[in-house]
Amino acid sequence: MEKCKICGREYKNINQHVNTAHKMSIDDYRLIEETVEVDEVISDEDFGKSVTPEERSKIIFKDEITESKAENPLSELLKEFDVTEVQLRRLLVQYKGGQAIPISQNIDENQRRAQKEASEILENYDGSELEIPDLWTAEELVKIHGFKCLEIRKTPTKRWVLKR
Ligand SMILES: [Zn+2]
Repeated sequence: MEKCKICGREYKNINQHVNTAHKMSIDDYRLIEETVEVDEVISDEDFGKSVTPEERSKIIFKDEITESKAENPLSELLKEFDVTEVQLRRLLVQYKGGQAIPISQNIDENQRRAQKEASEILENYDGSELEIPDLWTAEELVKIHGFKCLEIRKTPTKRWVLKR
């Protein structure tokens, strides 16, 4: 007797079973990962007679597959609303404390601060390369003041290297 790696049932003639029940050649069948534990017997009625290894794998790993699809829902959310995780956290703290501040207001604040910083930087600018540690300020300098981003340095902290 040999336990079928696809449906978990025991068969005397596994070749014939795999062939007729799963429409698979024995060579293909042998390629199925041995590590796939058949922990429960699923009857043929449950998923039809011609289940493929992929389908079998989906049945076994249903949860994992669903999870990997939504790899990082938070990053998608942040992208959608154009906020950083820190901003979102701050917002949630304020919200839970009873003081909801609209995200647009939060962004406005960042932009105002960046505008102020950018104009201070411009006052003393001597044409050399600048290392800006803040995305908002860097963006302001590039978009409004004609700076070019030469490089984004990631260590020790993220900095935007700008020049005009
Ligand atoms: Zn089988």
